[in-house]
Order: sequence, then C-alpha cells, then structure tokens
Amino acid sequence: MATDPGRIEELLAGLVRIESVTPWLIPDGAGEARIAAFAVDWLRDLPVELTLDEVAPGRPNLIARLRGSGGGPTLCLNAHSDTVGYANWRETALMPVRDGDRLVGLGAADDKSCCTIALLALRDLATEGSRLQGDLLVALTVDEEGASIGTEDLVRRHPMDAAIVLEPEHAGEVIVEHQGFGWIDVVVYGRPAHGSNPEAGIDAIVRMAEVVRGLHRRDVEVYQAGPVPFNGRTVFHTSTIRGGTDYATYPASAVLGIEIGTQPGERLADRVREIEETFSEVRAIFPDFRGEVNVRLEREPFRARGHDSLLAAADRAALAVLGRPLERVGLNAWTDAALMQAAGIPTIEMGPAGGNFHAPQEWVSLPEMAQLLEIVRRTAADFLG
Ligand SMILES: [Zn+2]
Repeated sequence: MATDPGRIEELLAGLVRIESVTPWLIPDGAGEARIAAFAVDWLRDLPVELTLDEVAPGRPNLIARLRGSGGGPTLCLNAHSDTVGYANWRETALMPVRDGDRLVGLGAADDKSCCTIALLALRDLATEGSRLQGDLLVALTVDEEGASIGTEDLVRRHPMDAAIVLEPEHAGEVIVEHQGFGWIDVVVYGRPAHGSNPEAGIDAIVRMAEVVRGLHRRDVEVYQAGPVPFNGRTVFHTSTIRGGTDYATYPASAVLGIEIGTQPGERLADRVREIEETFSEVRAIFPDFRGEVNVRLEREPFRARGHDSLLAAADRAALAVLGRPLERVGLNAWTDAALMQAAGIPTIEMGPAGGNFHAPQEWVSLPEMAQLLEIVRRTAADFLG
C-alpha cells in the first residue's frame, strides 16, 4: 500500500472537493468542520485517538494521536485545513483535475497536499507494526489563512516536544526561519480650516506625502539595498490611504496603512522606531509636525531553535529519499511555524512544490508529494524511535 501512488491523488482529491474556506476572510466560507469529519472517517480503522477541538463554533482542529510505547518525545505534524476564497474560478476550484504530474484545485497545494501527507504518514506508521516510543500527533488546524486561531489553540492544549509545520515549499528544502510582519496605521495630523484661510489651516495630506517619501526612501536605501540571507529584503509596502473631509476644507488628518516586515532577531518596535525617525526628518520641514504610529497586528518572525535532533532526523530521511540532505532556506512570508516556535516548541517547516497560490489553477506536484510523504514518514519514525 505504501508504494501505491494513486492513494496520494485519491485522498488529496477527496479533500479538495470539500469546501473549507476560512470564514475569517470570506464570511460565508464553509469553515473546516467537513474536512475534520472526513478525516475522522478516513482514520476510523486505525489505532489512533481522535479529538475534535472546537476552536470556534463549527471550526474544529482535528487531532489524531498515534500513541507510542512510552519514553519517547511527542512529534506534531501541523497542516492547515482551511483555504482562501475562490471567486475568480468558482466553476472549477472544487473539481480537482490531473494535469501531467500535477493536481489542480483549490487548496491542492496550500495546504491540502500537506493534510494528505500528514494523514498518510500517520496511516503508514500506524500500520507498519513497529511500535514507536514517542507519540505522533497529527493536527489539521483551522484558520491559518485567517488569524491562525487553530494553531494558537493547538499549542495551548497539547504539549509536544517538536513540530513539523507542513506548507508547500520544495521537497529538498527545509524552512528554518522567516520574516515576521506588522500591519500599521501611520496617522498624520493637520488643522482643519476653510480653504480660503490658509493661515489657519494645516494640510495633513501634504505632510503625509513627506512621510510616504521618507518611508519609500528607507525601503530603497535600506531594505532593498540590504537583503538578509535566507529571507530576502524586508517587506515594506503601503496598503491603504485616507484623509480629509471635503474639497473646501484643509484636511485635519490622514491615515496610511502599511505592511512592514521584521527579520529574525528584530521586533516590530524596531520598525516603529524607524517610522518615528522619518517623523523627525519631516519635522525638519514642518517644525510643528504631529504624527503617531498605531500597530494593528504584530506577528513575530520565525527562527528555529532547539530543533537539532529533529533536523538531523529529517536530513537522514532526505538523504535516503533524495540522495542529499535538506537545503536550509528562509521565507519573506509568515507562517504558523512562528507561533509553534514562540510557544517553545522546536519547529521546522517542509512541503511539496506547488504554484498559483491563492489564485486560479492552484497546483501541486504529485511526485514531490510522494517524496515528502516518504521524508516525513522516515523523519517521524527516526525521531520517535
Ligand atoms: Zn498555507
């Protein structure tokens, strides 16, 4: 059974057909309950302990525990069961199709390929006969495409010693760090006045223009000019802008929404300080400049720690499957690995190649899924003894 390539495609296609759009993004998204129920049914013949942790109404994390004989560590495989919406390919998103050695469909790569790998690795280890010492914990978590309440709940409820977060990447690579990010409102104040009374008015939008210029200059001269090994240039872009009330009045305030990254070892407070330095520069032009920085969301960067023995097991697995150890890489994006590691759980991240993420014709490589399944199965067997 372990060598039957058809079983990967069959299980993945089954998961893609089930709509599990996160309601955090799309209010009428179905949520993850049907995926959890499908997995419970699929796992029913195995000697595993199944739990549905209701994270939010109708949104359960599925937890499947293969209990070891004792004395070993607990390893978690975490893949998320939700997807983004599919308004741009409504007709076909939920109908998986084969295209060469790819499977195309909503969530085919992100992250149902990884749910498939976690479930099949669990099945293989449960039916192999050789009892492991440690526990294998498979978690299909909700809401990764939203606010990550699934992984937050997982690390609160379930003690574990190490974790592999499964997200599409490349079969020969392991992610050991990635950027964090912040969503920030930059507010600049003026003074409202009748348009014909320039002595009384202070134009908040003109002052905001100087702030935007300063932030862009820092992006070009610092972030773009000094990309960080592994994670690339620090993310920065403006996102939204609003200000003023009407044509006839000096604008009293302007608000700029930005997304900005943090590299491992940095905190969002470092970025806030930089924005305040830009304020100081603008103050050289407008001595009575007034602005403030409001952090709306902060997500810490990820850097794996305490993961040496897990990574060594993964390298041995990759050597057996691919003929070489895993290449260490980073990301300029954010994943739930940061939450796992922040909870004190040594974490690494792997996954199969895919493309068109969050877009029509999302695909995953079936051969890479087979390689990843074998790497994950061997890593777990090695690590859990
Ligand atoms: Zn994902």
